[in-house]
Amino acid sequence: MIQTRGLSKTFGTHTVLHEIDLNIQAGEIVVLLGPSGSGKSTLLRCLNGLEDLSAGSIEVNSIEVTSTMKLKERQQRMLQIRRQTGMVFQQFNLYPHKTALGNVTESLRMVKKLERTHARHVGERMLSRVGLLEKKDQYPSRLSGGQQQRVGIARALAMEPEIILFDEPTSALDPELVGEVLDVMKSLAQEGMTMIVVTHEMKFARQVANKVIFMDEGRIIEQSDPESFFERPATERAQRFLSKVM
Ligand code: ATP
Ligand code: MG
Repeated sequence: MIQTRGLSKTFGTHTVLHEIDLNIQAGEIVVLLGPSGSGKSTLLRCLNGLEDLSAGSIEVNSIEVTSTMKLKERQQRMLQIRRQTGMVFQQFNLYPHKTALGNVTESLRMVKKLERTHARHVGERMLSRVGLLEKKDQYPSRLSGGQQQRVGIARALAMEPEIILFDEPTSALDPELVGEVLDVMKSLAQEGMTMIVVTHEMKFARQVANKVIFMDEGRIIEQSDPESFFERPATERAQRFLSKVM
């Protein structure tokens, strides 16, 4: 479902991803861990087609982008990839002047070109999946952080993505609001959604992930099942990381 080969990303002279090889199957829940600056967000952005690659290749759902393709073709394929991968951000990124439902239906109207009633119908279904149908007419400023993030998830779901990428979805939330967002993510996992999650929620990682990937300085250092990773991290770097976050 997702494959990268020798994926590298350089900003100016600074290489932030070094020859990343990834294989993610449909239905897998992958938790991506690593210290600040290790390249987690950049990797997600590359997989989402938000960031161009400097070397190597990416294949998402049979759409391949390689660094040797002509720019125009690469951009076209990145756009196709973006339409099949949902992304949920730490800072929600909701439109403040649109209601919860308006936020969810925006891309259905603009990208999928659904007519108003159809978009509303889909939007309401997505809001009810995250338990927020009764808040559909509220503006983001009237919603709690946890509710805003659930709208963010409903918005990602509305495009019927094959994969959802989560970049620290609960890091901006007050502790008591984290659980409701994780619960929505757990239910998506149970429904078989393919997910890559950058998170500091180690309990979630242990309970929900099929695979843990640990990155440091732009490289994948370890890749294993959660039990092995948390009980017997193979590298000193991962041990050091875990001793700080657990
Ligand atoms: P954090 O846990 O703090 O979110 P991260 O693992 O997500 O960190 P990235 O945000 O991917 O790390 O950043 C990896 C490296 O790439 C950092 O050194 C960062 O400064 C650099 N970087 C990221 N985006 C850019 C950019 N647009 N231009 C230049 N450098 C960038
Ligand atoms: Mg990040």
